[in-house]
Amino acid sequence: MPDVEVELVLRSRRVITPEGTRAATVAVAGGRVVVVGPYDAVVPAGARLEDFGDDVVMPGLVDTHVHVNDPGRTEWEGFWTATRAAAAGGITTLLDMPLNSLPPTTTVGHLAVKQEVARSKAHIDVGFWGGAIPSNVKDLRPLHDAGVFGFKCFLSPSGVEEFPELDQEQLARSMAEISGFGGLLIVHAEDPHHLAAAPQRSGPRYADFLASRPRDAENTAIEGLISHAQRLGARVHVLHLSSSDALPLIAAAKGNGVAVTVESCPHFLTLTAEEVPDGATEFKCCPPIREAANQDALWQGLADGTIDCIVSDHSPCTTDLKTPDFASAWGGISSLQLGLPAIWTEARRRGHTLDDVVRWMAKAPAELAGLSTKGAIEVGRDADFAVLAPDETFTVDPAELHHRNQVSAYAGKTLYGVVRSTWLRGERIVENGNLAAPTGRLLERNN
Ligand SMILES: [Zn+2]
Repeated sequence: MPDVEVELVLRSRRVITPEGTRAATVAVAGGRVVVVGPYDAVVPAGARLEDFGDDVVMPGLVDTHVHVNDPGRTEWEGFWTATRAAAAGGITTLLDMPLNSLPPTTTVGHLAVKQEVARSKAHIDVGFWGGAIPSNVKDLRPLHDAGVFGFKCFLSPSGVEEFPELDQEQLARSMAEISGFGGLLIVHAEDPHHLAAAPQRSGPRYADFLASRPRDAENTAIEGLISHAQRLGARVHVLHLSSSDALPLIAAAKGNGVAVTVESCPHFLTLTAEEVPDGATEFKCCPPIREAANQDALWQGLADGTIDCIVSDHSPCTTDLKTPDFASAWGGISSLQLGLPAIWTEARRRGHTLDDVVRWMAKAPAELAGLSTKGAIEVGRDADFAVLAPDETFTVDPAELHHRNQVSAYAGKTLYGVVRSTWLRGERIVENGNLAAPTGRLLERNN
């Protein structure tokens, strides 16, 4: 043990480190990891020992895709409820999306409004994405300087009028501006022309909704995005990939040195179109949940590294907006508290390990956002941990979720992986579902 005031030592037979899972002790001082040592290391005098036995100690997860909707649509979610749900689900850092709140995060003034609202409510660390809309090219650089982690844009209508999409010319202009100061553009990639050409039929049938958001819309948008990024030398990130048909072109772009990264989400990786009951719009999101064969290909994309991260795209609304008509119901799936067990349940079935899950849900999202003190249990990083009983199961009861609205596409599912406790900078913030007072910090991009 080092010559610093160690406050806390965590011990487990299964600590997930960048070098793999092993029996270890983790010493914490000043909210940071100071030693990852042997299992039987001597605990310094004055330090508290927490022995987790066979429970897994993993880095706190990093969820870079969360719609908190606060202020403005706080009845949909809010920083208080979202960060409690996240903490209960083993997440210690979230990045808030720039839209569905009022105001949207499209100017420095709007960012300040959001930061003020979040400050006293954050149970975990919270950072912000900015938004790129047609009218705010001049605001992008100031937002970057104010610490946003990058910029989100849409290529098709976003669903809210205060956050319009970019056409191809506007996309190129915003991308050039952002890449000029070394920023990151993250994109909801569905092509509006393919969406407009697809059959639009209202009603409760999931098959009709699926047909209205075809794979071609994603494939075409991603192809265009890659070509802009290649031409401009820009760094881009594909949000919530659903169409597995786009994987070969993404893999080829990566192979050609294009700076493109990709995320997918728990609902695309654990739920299938075949199982969505008619009228069950808690399963509606855009792009949509596709067929089982598509899901198999997405898992292959994770396994071979074409897909970098898994993040929630937690996008809730009030129950009344989930009408049984797929065309008019609000699109968005809530999964902040359930992403880890949902993914772990499917990952283990497919022969993946918790090390893989940590790579996809902690390390890669932290790298995407440039969060150099998050995403791994390593000396110098924040002492953010989730303690998981990976072989224990529970059945999802929406009434037990901390989400503001108890609507869940996972209701009734039995999942592996019970989060016993969550730790933020060496402090226990959740124990067996009970939350401590908020101690989360507001994060700014640090590069
Ligand atoms: Zn989203």
